[in-house]
Amino acid sequence: MTGPDWFDAGLPHVWLPYTQMHTASPPLPATATDGCRIRLSDGRELIDGIASWWTACHGYNHPHIRQAATDQLARMPHVMFGGLVHEPALRLARRLTDLLPGDLERVFFSDSGSVAVEVAMKMAVQYWLNRGQSGRTRLVAFRGGYHGDTLATMAVCDPEEGMHSLFAGVLPQHVITDLPCDAASCAALDHLMETEGQHVAAILVEPLVQGAGGMLFHDPATLRALREIADRHGVLLILDEIFTGFGRTGSLFACQQAGIVPDIITLSKALSGGTVPLAATVARRHVFQAFLSDDPTHALMHGPTFMANPLACACANASLDLFEREPRLEQVAAIGAQMRDELEACRHLPAVRDVRTMGAIGVVELERIRDMNRLKARLVDQGVWVRPFRTIVYLTPAFTIAPKELAHLTQAIRTVLSDPP
Ligand SMILES: *Cc1c(COP(=O)(O)O)cnc(C)c1O
Repeated sequence: MTGPDWFDAGLPHVWLPYTQMHTASPPLPATATDGCRIRLSDGRELIDGIASWWTACHGYNHPHIRQAATDQLARMPHVMFGGLVHEPALRLARRLTDLLPGDLERVFFSDSGSVAVEVAMKMAVQYWLNRGQSGRTRLVAFRGGYHGDTLATMAVCDPEEGMHSLFAGVLPQHVITDLPCDAASCAALDHLMETEGQHVAAILVEPLVQGAGGMLFHDPATLRALREIADRHGVLLILDEIFTGFGRTGSLFACQQAGIVPDIITLSKALSGGTVPLAATVARRHVFQAFLSDDPTHALMHGPTFMANPLACACANASLDLFEREPRLEQVAAIGAQMRDELEACRHLPAVRDVRTMGAIGVVELERIRDMNRLKARLVDQGVWVRPFRTIVYLTPAFTIAPKELAHLTQAIRTVLSDPP
């Protein structure tokens, strides 16, 4: 290992995410960010192709978000949300519900996507209990889905990626099935709901793109079919827009492309513009109303310590300002067009199975990645920060990326994949 003092001294004491610590190459020491660039301790700069796990949608260190954070830091960095409320959270809640379709009008804040999904699951199950229907404890979720890493959310992820067999006995049993894509698979889901429906609280899906499960795209028609199936069988529909929300698929929220309103929606990732952790679970009026009662056990018993953190909410408000003031959706369309053009050349490279784009998501899917460590190192050698996973090399850059920077990213992928390690 070679790096600054803090790197050599501290690295033996951290446990890194999704990492076989015995064999993985060491991580890179980052010291500063700016725009779409990450600076390393040795002075190298990498162009970030994935916006820090899809969070930094305005690029890093945007002056407007920094100002909002600085002001809020001086005034009130945190105060508990139990019995107290504050302007950043209430303003954010009102703005989110204005932007979301239909009567999605009650916001429950939390601090990570996984918790936002758990809250949605809890809401859905208790919704039925509060209405006097017990036995509706299961979720219907889909192969290829990803909804988080906590035990409750692992149980609704793709069974293989979520390691359901490894954790058998720990994970609750939900219904994981194929995402319907045509009349036959819709009929199959409909049939499944006829037999299992009385145990089901809600259908849960990532709209338009199953992100961490492999950047798998589906049609708006699938979402309309899910809305119809949920209505026909009288269950709730939860959309997990933690990845797709805030412009990534080309519209502010993916559900808008299908013209449907879910009963509950989850948001995180780009919610605070990539600065401070924040998540939200937003419920429609009828969901919220099922919790109103003289019975205290009908309340939603959940409350993360740092929920609605004022600093995070101030950053999220500043991020929404930027969506209002700057042409984000036009930028998404331009990024999509450029990626479609420039990644197309990958289609004929060895081992490339598919090239696809949607919104500001560009995907090159390979038959296999033989040496992931080497692939990652070669991308860094090209001056880019791109994190392939499974068989996927993808770009989800900041919406503010310059065409030249994006061209550098697509060129790096073409170069590396033309002689894949
Ligand atoms: C990232 C993600 C989550 C989990 O969010 P965390 O903040 O990592 O807990 C859940 N659902 C989707 C669709 C995600 O992309």
